[in-house]
Amino acid sequence: MKSHVKAVVIGGGVVGCSVLYHLARAGWTDIMLIERSELTSGSSWHAAGGFHTLNGDPNVAKLQAYTVQLYKELEEISGQSCSLHLTGGVMLADSPERMDFLRLAHAKGRYLGMDTELITPSEAKKMFPLMDEKHFVGAMWDPVEGHLDPSGTTHAYAKAAKKLGAEIVLRNPVKELTQDPDGTWNVVTEQGTVRAEHVVNCGGLWAREVGRMVGVELPVLAMEHMYLLTEPMPEVEAFNKETGREMIGVLDFKGEIYTRQERNGILLGTYEKACKPWSPVNTPWDFGHELLAPDLDRIAPSLEIGFQHFPGIANAGIKQVINGPFTFAPDGNPLVGPVQGLTNFWVACGVMAGFSQGGGVGLALSNWMVNGDPGFDVWGMDVARWGEWASLRYTNAKVRENYSRRFSIRFPNEELPAARPAQTTPLYDTMVANNAVMGDSWGLETPLWFAPKGTEPKDIVSFHRSNDFEHIGNEVRATRDRVGVTEIANFAKYEVSGPASEDFLNRLMTNRMPKNGRIVLTPMLNEFGRLIGDFTIAKTGDDTFMIWGSSAAQKYHMRWFEKHLPKDGSVRIHRFDQTLVGLSIAGPKSQELLARLVDEDVSSKAFRFMDFREMAVGGAPCLVNRITYTGDLGYEIWMAPAYQRLVYKAIKDAGEEFGIVDFGMRALLSMRLEKNFPTWFRELRPIYGPFEGSMERFIKLEKNDFIGREAAAREHAEGPKLRRVSFYVDAQDADVMGDEPIWAKIGAKDFGTIEKPHGYGAPRFDETGKEVRGSDAATGASAVRGIVDGDWRVVGWVTSGGYAHYVEKSMAQGYVPAALAENEAEGLFEIEILGHRRPARINVEPPFDPSGDKMRG
Ligand SMILES: Cc1cc2nc3c(=O)[nH]c(=O)nc-3n(C[C@H](O)[C@H](O)[C@H](O)COP(=O)(O)OP(=O)(O)OC[C@H]3O[C@@H](n4cnc5c(N)ncnc54)[C@H](O)[C@@H]3O)c2cc1C
Repeated sequence: MKSHVKAVVIGGGVVGCSVLYHLARAGWTDIMLIERSELTSGSSWHAAGGFHTLNGDPNVAKLQAYTVQLYKELEEISGQSCSLHLTGGVMLADSPERMDFLRLAHAKGRYLGMDTELITPSEAKKMFPLMDEKHFVGAMWDPVEGHLDPSGTTHAYAKAAKKLGAEIVLRNPVKELTQDPDGTWNVVTEQGTVRAEHVVNCGGLWAREVGRMVGVELPVLAMEHMYLLTEPMPEVEAFNKETGREMIGVLDFKGEIYTRQERNGILLGTYEKACKPWSPVNTPWDFGHELLAPDLDRIAPSLEIGFQHFPGIANAGIKQVINGPFTFAPDGNPLVGPVQGLTNFWVACGVMAGFSQGGGVGLALSNWMVNGDPGFDVWGMDVARWGEWASLRYTNAKVRENYSRRFSIRFPNEELPAARPAQTTPLYDTMVANNAVMGDSWGLETPLWFAPKGTEPKDIVSFHRSNDFEHIGNEVRATRDRVGVTEIANFAKYEVSGPASEDFLNRLMTNRMPKNGRIVLTPMLNEFGRLIGDFTIAKTGDDTFMIWGSSAAQKYHMRWFEKHLPKDGSVRIHRFDQTLVGLSIAGPKSQELLARLVDEDVSSKAFRFMDFREMAVGGAPCLVNRITYTGDLGYEIWMAPAYQRLVYKAIKDAGEEFGIVDFGMRALLSMRLEKNFPTWFRELRPIYGPFEGSMERFIKLEKNDFIGREAAAREHAEGPKLRRVSFYVDAQDADVMGDEPIWAKIGAKDFGTIEKPHGYGAPRFDETGKEVRGSDAATGASAVRGIVDGDWRVVGWVTSGGYAHYVEKSMAQGYVPAALAENEAEGLFEIEILGHRRPARINVEPPFDPSGDKMRG
């Protein structure tokens, strides 16, 4: 065993072996994997080995596509078979809602270049004769599904990594991790100590325990999972004989069941409602290649439905029941990336579908470690997406909820109840008493909308407009016509201070920093000139700045800020989280209202648009920004939590004469739509450049050498390939939710041929794992199937949208090829909503207050 290496990977399951292989492939060969026992001594060995591309997050789906595509290469390099069976599979819908869900998944698949197809139950039956089609209304076929040998695949990664020079040490538990002042890690193992620059936690079932070695409580929990294997079935043998094919994989949402052929019988697994965590607090170190006791009673309700839906299986004998544990994060997606607050400590754990995701996780993490950037939009699996509130008990409640809902529909307006409320502001009880429907915003209870007195404050979940529609409309109209107040505690807030703070921010941000008492809006870029942040910054003192940003990105941004802080202590950064809370007032009467609450001049001359000032509001010390996300005349007022009730009461009391209303987050988002404002993580993400994002007003290429400037200058010089645009959509009773395909009639001569936007078309990767973007030739002819229809082509996808209540229009935002971005012609675009293509038209100017006169006051 070497005593010094560049990186140690802890854990020899499929994920650790994939990380090792990808690091070696990226050129880091001075690396070592340390495994407690033999390879596959966690959940990897008893997996059912199924794989698929589909994922609710298209960016994660892309990495799953990469994983599936990788296996052939892996077999060639390693000489080890993965026993790949690419059978294809169907998802069965038993209800119209589930069919809507499949239509949405199919639509998303279009721009990912997936060849999915919506089919009838009888077509599905032809592929899988064991089913009784009377229970279903439709299905979706996906050709890129199948299964493999979990152990063979893990060993294939390991062998390929060894061939590239990586070392694997078996039967050697890692006992302790310490870090020297120079950042070197001491990996203390049973066989001695290894010094390493980087440590990667791929501990799978023990990832939590490995995290605790460095004082981190990772939000992962293992759940028991059962699948059964039937005796050989004559129906299966007959099908194989007749068709010369293996049976396909089947997912039955209603029964919460997945099946596939295993030898001459069937493998059937369940995600049962009565699910059970395994080792909820500490994973025993002596657990290894053993299975857990089967408990068929627990999965009986699923089996009962399954046996009705698949009568063939009901008659088969059960040969074996496998019950094994595997880990989940609270939302079911992996935890990947560097841990904020530590240096060179990485995780790749909580991977619940190692054989669909392991390759993509390895690729993204190795890119990140070697190049400083994952190379993809990995927000959906970034470990930074969880805050401190994701404690052991939170994780337990959420993972159980997620497991039991694995095959349930998540509606776009659906808030899930487990582990709530986690964080509350002092106004929580008041908001609940005001009949607010509350939502979870990065662990914080936040009012979404207010139900009228006497009605139950509850969402009726739906893909269509629902019971909140009318009430959000009322909140928007009252705010736009008079004045409204809303809680904005769920924004991120930071203070940057110290003598070098301005230089620091100038290096990180694309815009010039404001003068004392002024505010600017500014994106932040990575070295590759991609958008990694969007902030409001106020200069609050000679050496101090306040920053506001996206709540969910707090750890993500802190990680970036800390990485770039000068080592000499000349800049300090403080994240307030819920130690600073806020309220926003907006609407034409908001200025008069503020004037009633303060003892100073707040006229538009004295307190201008984009001014910042400290003042007492209703008697409480506050920070006030003359800016609001509604895009109207308005203010953001920030205070210590102890003052929030006082300020709110003062606002409501003084606002009575103006007819003030409470409005929620959904009204706020509706109002930003009619101003064409983007949102972070929907419109603005690390896959877009600042000019693509239509953020040019905030990019000052000439100001200094800020991070990403060179790449941004290149984008500017060459012209962005895509542009963020806003649409009016001729919607009926359902608005866009995000991720819908945008069709354009570009077969017509006047638009000529356009270059494909990146991220569209089947993802293709070159031999180094780098995504190949661009032309049709690169994405392959088959990728185009399903995205061309006569003169129409899918040219982009919706990032977000909804109903803009004040201007009474259904609106959407998304990215389209730059050549089309300013074309407001009717009949040029269509947006696919729930399987129906609806006419859409670009609106270059926002429909509300396009001149900004109202906003400036
Ligand atoms: C019944 C069942 C069915 C499944 N079916 C599927 C399926 O069909 N498709 C699919 O994609 N996934 C499936 N899975 C999930 C899949 O098994 C996991 O996604 C995958 O195994 C996770 O791999 P991993 O490498 O993260 O963790 P693990 O396999 O748990 O590996 C972690 C490794 O780290 C080692 N380790 C931990 N701590 C230390 C330490 N301190 N020192 C040294 N070594 C350490 C362990 O010994 C272990 O070998 C299934 C799981 C189960 C239980």
